[in-house]
Amino acid sequence: MASEKSSITSILIIYTGGTIGMVQHLESGTLAPVKFDQILKEVPELNKFNYNIQTVIFNPALDSSNMNPSVWIKIALTIKKNYNNYDGFVILHGTDTMAYTASALSFMFENLDKPIIFTGSQLPIGTIRTDGKENLITSVEIAAAKEGGKSKVPEVCIYFDFKLFRGNRTVKSDSEQFSAFHSVNYPALAVAGVDIRYSSEFIYHSENKGILKVNTRFDDNVVILKMFPGISERVFKSILDIPGLKGIVLETFGSGNVPTTQWLINCIKRAIKKGIVVLNITQCEGGRVLMGQYETSLELLNSGVVSGKDMTTEAAITKLMFLLGQGLSTNEIKIYLNKSLRGEISE
Ligand code: ASP
Repeated sequence: MASEKSSITSILIIYTGGTIGMVQHLESGTLAPVKFDQILKEVPELNKFNYNIQTVIFNPALDSSNMNPSVWIKIALTIKKNYNNYDGFVILHGTDTMAYTASALSFMFENLDKPIIFTGSQLPIGTIRTDGKENLITSVEIAAAKEGGKSKVPEVCIYFDFKLFRGNRTVKSDSEQFSAFHSVNYPALAVAGVDIRYSSEFIYHSENKGILKVNTRFDDNVVILKMFPGISERVFKSILDIPGLKGIVLETFGSGNVPTTQWLINCIKRAIKKGIVVLNITQCEGGRVLMGQYETSLELLNSGVVSGKDMTTEAAITKLMFLLGQGLSTNEIKIYLNKSLRGEISE
């Protein structure tokens, strides 16, 4: 399967599942994954690239709602195993949790200097109006793109509907339109029209130039707790009291605000005292957490809640699981959460 390195550009497509490769069951009408070979047959245009394109097929192919850290690790290890034999990687993945997987992978890789491009589609590739063909063809072209012998986009990205985004800055925002993803707090890395126009100034380049390293440990003792007006003490407290809980992504209002009710602040203080890491992420798509701007966030700041700044929830929860898995001290975890590791935060 892995090719010998030659002067021909080599791209590895890893098919994990998703609508791009699904067919409709006649009786139930539900969509379920099919064999990947059929996908490549649907896109003969790929043969016109003068690339060596190889594939790895995950069995079973997954609806991305069934993704979890063990599959993230499987994807990362497949890339690691093939890293030296390919110029770039295209990951076909369901759209539902693509932003989580792309975020998780961005944290797992150290010293990445090749593109890892996630894509998928809203309509299966065999359907006449599918968006899957364009998404796949352009992802392959981006994964192969080089300048001065180096990859143009050596980071984990999502390509969808003519736009290339940083993976850990992207959210799925539409389940019907072809423009399923967007990135509010960070510009597109490239836009595909007649030409593919890259915005080089926004592309992330790994600072260290050592050999590729993949960190494969995650800790799932975490929760996302979304605030809403009227949340009860009973519910809030029972979540914070989950046995073994180590980290909370607290989805707050606006620039990081919560009700000033004393029981809520006391619950948070108690959790932090127990060593639970509380990360403040805004429910707003755009903007950032600024604790202390309002009275309703000052107590969070004083209690030791960490600001997630402008991280997406997808980046926040995967980063928290990743950092908790690395055997770091609580203090180190807090420091890393608050700063950009792979371009997921605007400083
Ligand atoms: N449910 C599908 C998935 O995430 C949706 C898609 O691929 O667009 O696997």
